[in-house]
Formats: sequence, structure tokens, C-alpha cells
Amino acid sequence: MDSLTTLTIAEARDLLAKREVGARELTEAHIAAVEAARPLNAFITETPEKALEMAAASDDRRARGGEGDLGVMEGIPIAVKDLFCTEDILTTAGSHILDGFHPPYESTVSANLWRAGAVLLGKTNLDEFAMGSSNMTSYYGNVENPWREREGDNRPLVPGGSSGGSAAAVAARAAMGATGTDTGGSIRQPAAFSGIVGMKPTYGRCSRWGVVAFASSLDQAGPLTRSVRDAAIMLRAMAGHDGKDSTSVDCPVPDYEAALTGDVRGLRIGVPEQYRVDDMPGEIEALWSQGIDWLKAAGAEPVEISLPHTKYALPTYYIVAPAEASSNLARYDGVRYGLRVPGGELDEMYEATRGEGFGAEVKRRVLIGTYVLSAGYYDAYYNKARRVRSLIAKDFTDVFETVDAILTPTAPSAAFAIGEKMDDPIAMYLNDVFTVPASLAGLPAISVPAGLSAEGLPLGLHVIGKAFDEEMVLRVAGVLETAAGFTEEPGFIAGRETGS
Ligand code: GLN
Repeated sequence: MDSLTTLTIAEARDLLAKREVGARELTEAHIAAVEAARPLNAFITETPEKALEMAAASDDRRARGGEGDLGVMEGIPIAVKDLFCTEDILTTAGSHILDGFHPPYESTVSANLWRAGAVLLGKTNLDEFAMGSSNMTSYYGNVENPWREREGDNRPLVPGGSSGGSAAAVAARAAMGATGTDTGGSIRQPAAFSGIVGMKPTYGRCSRWGVVAFASSLDQAGPLTRSVRDAAIMLRAMAGHDGKDSTSVDCPVPDYEAALTGDVRGLRIGVPEQYRVDDMPGEIEALWSQGIDWLKAAGAEPVEISLPHTKYALPTYYIVAPAEASSNLARYDGVRYGLRVPGGELDEMYEATRGEGFGAEVKRRVLIGTYVLSAGYYDAYYNKARRVRSLIAKDFTDVFETVDAILTPTAPSAAFAIGEKMDDPIAMYLNDVFTVPASLAGLPAISVPAGLSAEGLPLGLHVIGKAFDEEMVLRVAGVLETAAGFTEEPGFIAGRETGS
């Protein structure tokens, strides 16, 4: 059974097509893997019955023969971040305030995946309302990274965040792929910490309809997978125009897999000087140089570029994102959704519900957001941040006149221990230093596992592309993936295989 869980989506797809394996068999193996992965706390809700039903339906479609009816994710068991609304299935956003919320509708992205034949294994844990970089702010408890062997240090590690449950599930071979959302790095950073691939497409590529909102001008859905090819397959199924999301873009979804030509000859790869941040560990710098060398060896040309407003990206993000969050989260008042804590008067009920329903990080963001949007500070903070955001985006537009893609590290460190950095929000926010600029500019970007730290933990390289040029991002990522040849597995799996 274990061998079925080590397959990539592409390999499983081929075996399913040759009738060498059935969706049911594949799904059963993954249901067992989800159970075995319970110590990681990667799932908030497991949906084994639903999975078996969907797998049986997929096998039926295939048996009826019409290959034309088969989708690109036909029979593939996946996990869904618990920020995507799933019809009649508990959807929590990692928050106490959504207690018992069973949406009467399905998010467009998950509906697209089911239409493409995918099978739902369950809903994955996440930082509360996707606010965090460590999966330590979930009401449903911390998620553990399946990687845990550090020299001389046995403390469990974070999987990154906020899509930490999705990353841990995929890295632990408990799901073949998972959906994530990325507002400032929440797909890419957990992918880097967990040794897998994570892709944030261009803002507008995937519909946000039915995804619990954090910061609407930044939120974007994307896949977490174990290979670049799998990211291409899964993104194709997730993406597309949706009349229900006015920011979703009406342009055709290409066959992303066809972009994986392995050929980067003649491409110009930008290396931004501003990403050499203070106190960057030597091994991150070394990994970055290695990435540049790999692309050079494959025939690409590295080009030093300048993105001068990068240094303002973090402060800009931590004004814009909380501002939007404070307004999005105003709807949780105990009247329409989830938790209600009784109080004497109506406003006391609001207060009691929000006081109990939101965790500390969410409250911090609501306070910051309300402050920067308040009459006296709006111009000084929110409006200024919006203007700086345009300058950051313009930096990218300028450099993309001369380069095809940009290469940086994904995160400034490898995974850290659970509990670390929790008393220092600024240290936590620094995790996003390399991912946030592309988010503010709405650009597609991917993290590819590229090597191990001195302590034996995965590190990722990050490729950023032009708007709607996911194909270029995937093409460059594919070449990095081949050059890196990253095949190491997390200790959690080795433990499972030996039964320890
Ligand atoms: N870590 C960032 C934050 O806490 C990004 C989160 C995300 O992308 N959802 O806001």
C-alpha cells in the first residue's frame, strides 16, 4: 500500500489510465496514510466516506469508457485547505469563530477540482484565517512538520504557514496534492519548509469565490504537490475564469504541463540585489548561488537586477493585509455564522463572540487594520502603503522588460521549532521577506525544494514570473527541480515504514 502513496500525481494518472490501479485502491491507500499521519495534526476534518464515494464514481466514469469524460485529476486523492468552503462539510478557517459552519455551497476552485475528477480526503489545518507563518495560530492546534531530524535537537518543527496542514499532508505522503492559499507566502514558505513544491499563480488566475477571505487584493489559491509537473497538472484543474469573482481574469487556461520543456537556453534570469538581506544565513546564500549556477549550466543567463522598493515590501504588506482583514472579518459577529457567545445587549453579544472566537494573532491584525484605516491615520498609513505597493509592482514591470524570470530563495531559514518566534511577531513576519513582494505585485511564483540545510532540513528556491506567465515559472522550476534532484524523504515516513 505504501508504494501507492509514494506515486506522484503524473505517475498515478498513467497507472489509472492503463487500468493498473483503480481510484478506489489509490484512495484506500491514502485514507490509511491520513490515519497514520494523525500525530502531525495536519487534518481538521477527514472525509474517508466521501473519498470512497468519489473514487467509486471516478472508477465508474472510467469503466464506462468515455475518455472524453475524464478530467485531468481523475481519481487523484487530494486534501483541501480548510479555508475553501466545501458544501455540507465543516469549514473552519482554523478559527473558533466558525464553529459548526457547514457551508451550503462549494468554492469554485474545489468545484473545479471535483469536476476534473479529484477525490477529497479531508480538510487541512491552517493558521487562523491564514494569518501566520508557522501553523501555530490555529484553534485546532499546531501542525507538526514530518521533517524533524535535526542534529542534536529533537524538538518538533513547524511545517510553515499558513497552509501548513496541506504542506505536511503532502510531504508525509498522506495526500497526492493539496490546495493552499497564498496572501503573502502561505503556499511557498510551507512548501519550502516541508520539502515540496508550492505555487502561487497570478492574482486573478484562480477564483476566490467561496474561499474565506483574509486580504482580498492579495489572496490567491494554488497547489502544493511533490513535483513541478504535478503543480502544472493541478493548477490547470484549479484555474479559470469565474463570473462569481469579479477579480478573476477571463483568459484561457493553457496546458501548463506542455510548458515543462526542460529548455531554459537563452533565458534571462534576474537576480535581485535587494534580496541579499541582513543576517541571511550563509547556507541560504549558498543555495541561491547554486540555483544560479544550475540555470547557467542549463544555458540561461543570470542578470543582476534591482528592485529598489523591495525594502518597503514587508511594512507595506503588514499595513495592507491587516487593513483588508479587519474589514473582511467584520462579518463574524455571532449573528450569521458559527460561534455565538450570549451577552445582555446586542453589542455585548458581538463583543463576547469576537472576544472568545478570535485568537491573539487575528485580534492583533484587526487592531492594526482598524488603526491604519481610522480617519486620523488613513493617509499616513493605508494610503501611503497603497502608493508604495504600486511602486513595488512597477519595479517588477520594469525589470520584466529585460528578464524572463527572477530567482531568489523562498525563505530566510529552514523550518524552526514549534513555539519559537511566537513571542516576537516581527521575527515571525520576517519569514515573508522574499515572498511578499510578488504577492503585492500579484505575480506568479513557485517554491521548489532545492537542497538540505546543515541540520538536514529542506530549503527552497523561488522563481517569480510576469503576470499570467505561469508557464515560464513552471519551465524554470522544472529545470531547477531536475538539477537539484531532491529525493530526500522526511523522517516521519521512514518511521512509518519501519513501524516505529
Ligand atoms: N505569513 C503571512 C501572514 O501572516 C502570509 C500569510 C498568507 O500568505 N496567508 O500574513
